[in-house]
Amino acid sequence: MSTRPPSFSICVYCGSRPGVDPSFAAAARDIGHWIGSHGGQLVYGGGRNGLMGLVAQATLAAGGTVIGIIPQALVDKEMANLDCTELHVVQTMHERKRLMAELADAFLALPGGIGTFEEFFEVWTWRQLGYHDKPVGLLNQGGYYDGMVRFLQTSVEQQFMGPWQMELIRIDSDWQRLLPALVQDAGVTPSDRLENI
Ligand code: AMP
Repeated sequence: MSTRPPSFSICVYCGSRPGVDPSFAAAARDIGHWIGSHGGQLVYGGGRNGLMGLVAQATLAAGGTVIGIIPQALVDKEMANLDCTELHVVQTMHERKRLMAELADAFLALPGGIGTFEEFFEVWTWRQLGYHDKPVGLLNQGGYYDGMVRFLQTSVEQQFMGPWQMELIRIDSDWQRLLPALVQDAGVTPSDRLENI
């Protein structure tokens, strides 16, 4: 692993399960590989199951840094990924989410379940309130989030949200467009480790 500090830090929210569509797991692995091979740091929930474990292991395998942040209750259930470069064990979910947000330059939600939805909506809400100014992305892999995106548009049409709130997030079905765009929006430059070693 490189001893240089990571060139960027991205927080990934994703399923603690792999889902059915094999393209979810493929995207999770490819994203981890991209983060690691560009000298980046992954901040995530510290679990070893599902897409979470896949992103983390692929980041590590490609030479990246992985910061896992997990509540004690999940460690007790033996769900922690002990391979993380750093594993922060915190007492509460609030502490966990605050630390994840603090340590990241940008946020990316992959397909996932209720935990992923909650994390994504929370950082989006924090952004609209001005608690942070970091880019937030939603990977609509294989159209997984089509129904949710339609509903969000309904919310705009019904004027419970303004179009400007939708403009605070990037939604894309292609991680190869979305991930570099988020890193660029964050104002950090991914280094190409192969060139810089
Ligand atoms: P879900 O989408 O419901 O599978 O929840 C995944 C999200 O919630 C992740 O981004 C994690 O931050 C958190 N999470 C849920 N389950 C776990 C677990 N077993 N270990 C670690 N984090 C988890």
